[in-house]
Amino acid sequence: MPPAFSTSHPQGHAAEGQGTDEVRLLTAEEAWTEACAELRRRMAERTFVQWVAPARVMPAEGDALKLGYPSMFMVDWVRTHYRERFEDELLAVANRRIPVEITERDPEPSEVEARETPAEAVAPPAPAPAPKLALVEAPRGLRGPSLTPRYNFDTFVVGASNQLAYAACHAVAESLGTAYNPLFLYGGVGLGKTHLMQAVGNHAAGSRQRVLYASSEQFVNEFVSAIQQKKVDEFRRRYRECDVLLIDDVQMLAGKERTEEEFFHTFNVLHQQNKQIIVTSDTVPHEIDRMEERLRSRFQWGLIADIRPPEMETRMAILRTKAQEMGLELDDEVITFLATHIRQNVRELEGALRRVRAMQQVTRGPLSLELCKNVLRSILVNKGEKLDCEQIMKQCSQHFKVTVAELKSPSRKKNLARARQAAMFLCRRLTGASFPDIGERFGGRDHTTVLYACDRVVELMKGDADYRKSVETLERELSQIGGV
Ligand code: ADP
Ligand code: MG
Repeated sequence: MPPAFSTSHPQGHAAEGQGTDEVRLLTAEEAWTEACAELRRRMAERTFVQWVAPARVMPAEGDALKLGYPSMFMVDWVRTHYRERFEDELLAVANRRIPVEITERDPEPSEVEARETPAEAVAPPAPAPAPKLALVEAPRGLRGPSLTPRYNFDTFVVGASNQLAYAACHAVAESLGTAYNPLFLYGGVGLGKTHLMQAVGNHAAGSRQRVLYASSEQFVNEFVSAIQQKKVDEFRRRYRECDVLLIDDVQMLAGKERTEEEFFHTFNVLHQQNKQIIVTSDTVPHEIDRMEERLRSRFQWGLIADIRPPEMETRMAILRTKAQEMGLELDDEVITFLATHIRQNVRELEGALRRVRAMQQVTRGPLSLELCKNVLRSILVNKGEKLDCEQIMKQCSQHFKVTVAELKSPSRKKNLARARQAAMFLCRRLTGASFPDIGERFGGRDHTTVLYACDRVVELMKGDADYRKSVETLERELSQIGGV
């Protein structure tokens, strides 16, 4: 992956690599390019083609990202189903929140042609053709288009928190349909459910079993689309003729009655033939709200295995393994630091390593603990759950001995202007609020004033040691509020 930072920026407002080169944040558009690569990796191909590929970056105000889609239908659908996901992905690659706006744009010539096909003109929800029903129609043993080869048993680090789930998946892979059927894996986000489930899938595909992996979202979309296109029989064949069915995040089926019913019948057909079923969920079966009892009870027929957040030793082992995969050499001190601060989620551990690597590619220095702390601080603070502009203004006003009202006032007295500029700079750096947003909060100022303030703080910090110390102290204190 290319670095998430780069060194030349006309505004130079975000000096990330303290004591080294000045490092700027990615622009919204650059971040989107990276986010797309990540989305392509994570999403089913057809979902990506349908809902991400048609997006075009449009001119936008401030730091927002405006994506254009060729129809109002798509605009509505993406707003409801994907906008938040895009924002999460952007946050992960850019280290700050980039608000996403979805808007209509003119269709391109190829899109106009596509629209003239009647079925698509009426029903675009999931019109991309199913990927050739590869797993059912293709020769036995073909790996599904959506199985990720890297998700296998060898790359999975086992610890107390995931031992049961690992052992269960291993046993299932060794004796499909007979060991535990269904296998129900549950646990929080980013703990390895998809990885383990696909490890079984990859193992089975290797021994020429027909494996079908789908997220619940895919299952729903394909079913809706099959109904619209009068291809329900085909849909059923596809799902009922596999040897191993993997349904990810099954809690998302809850409340979608027809799809739940369809899945219920699919389940029964496969189970009767001793075909292996694995589902994952964020919770135990009986706590999946709004899911039909008959389906929940079926999930309890086989084995239910949980994955908990990894304990310290497992986090360290995961970090070592992943760092090695990435070709990063990390001191024990750094590993311990990362493992101490990121506790809940393996995906975040991976994200931290990616950022450490990106930062290192820019600064080209050794991977010191200090560098990692900087990276980590921005990750945790940028979650933005605890810290907001009001808190930053308050802290700055106390530090510079002015009032919050003065910070928002038009007064341009020198000491006041410096305090205000520092506060704006920190709002930008720690919350990811856009320039216009920050301007608005500081008494309705224009976004160019905020831009200027950010540049000015970088300048002042170079020439005025006291001012630099003030800003750095404030940043450290505020980062602690933000969770580091
Ligand atoms: P979930 O499905 O539970 O949300 P994923 O399976 O998508 O989580 O895992 C998130 C990321 O963390 C993946 O890249 C996965 O490879 C990695 N991961 C999770 N647990 C482990 C583990 N124990 N060992 C190695 N990688 C792991
Ligand atoms: Mg998952």
